[in-house]
Formats: sequence, C-alpha cells, structure tokens
Amino acid sequence: MQRKLQVEAIQHGSVIDHIPAKQGVKILSFFKLTQTSEKITIGLNLPTKSGIAKDLIKVENTFISDDQANQLALFAPNATINQIKDFKVVNKFQVQLPGAFIGVLSCPNSNCISHNEPVKTKFYVNNNLDLKLKCHYCEKSFNRTFFHELD
Ligand SMILES: [Zn+2]
Repeated sequence: MQRKLQVEAIQHGSVIDHIPAKQGVKILSFFKLTQTSEKITIGLNLPTKSGIAKDLIKVENTFISDDQANQLALFAPNATINQIKDFKVVNKFQVQLPGAFIGVLSCPNSNCISHNEPVKTKFYVNNNLDLKLKCHYCEKSFNRTFFHELD
C-alpha cells in the first residue's frame, strides 16, 4: 500500500509540490498567502525518493494563476501545481520561467530610477547557467537570491 500522507486530499484548491526545501516559507510570504483566511497546509523538509528534501503547500479554495505560476518559478523552478476540484486533480502543470518579470519585483539596486519614477519594474530572465534577472532600467543583472527577501 502506498502512503499518500504528503499529498493528503483537499477538496478544492491548489497543491504546490516539489518546492526546494527552505523556499516554502518565502513563497507563502511572496504570494501574501500568510494573509489569506483559507486553510493552508504546509509541509517543510519532506523527504523524497531522491533524498533531497522538499517543501509542499496546499491552499484551499485558491487557484494559482498563470502569472503566479510564472513568479513561483523564481523560487521553485521545478515546482508542480495541482488544481483540485471535488477531491480530484483536474489540472496539473509545471511552473515555467517567463521571459520577463513585470511589476512584481523591486530592483535590488537602490540607485535604480525604477525606485523614483512611476514605472513598472521589469526584469529580463537570463537562464543560461545560473538564473539571473536583468533590470530593464539600470541594466544590472542580479542573481535571484537578491530577490528573496522582498515583501
Ligand atoms: Zn534597476
């Protein structure tokens, strides 16, 4: 018999799986899931077959939009999202890095004009070796870890 404890059923909502360990809490705060009144179940440092721990988030009555899925890729490039209706998985997909992040991140460069001008921030994704984001305005590139602590 297979143990299914880690993905125990929810009735309606989303299960974000295959989050790298330690990123689950960041994702919760980035998506302001800490402010929802929906039921959230979080698994941190769950063991996997590969031996590399993962985090898992289940949110009732909440569906992750394509935009949010793209943003999730910043923290969890291999995450999968399961959408559940009536206890059944009706949609399952892997997050994908977008070509650019627009209006969701603030530039780590405090001298960047995006902090003073009424513009939407824009970062181009460069995913060659190590994921880097290049600011449209100051043209500086940043490792994604620079973006982790943003509200
Ligand atoms: Zn900038």
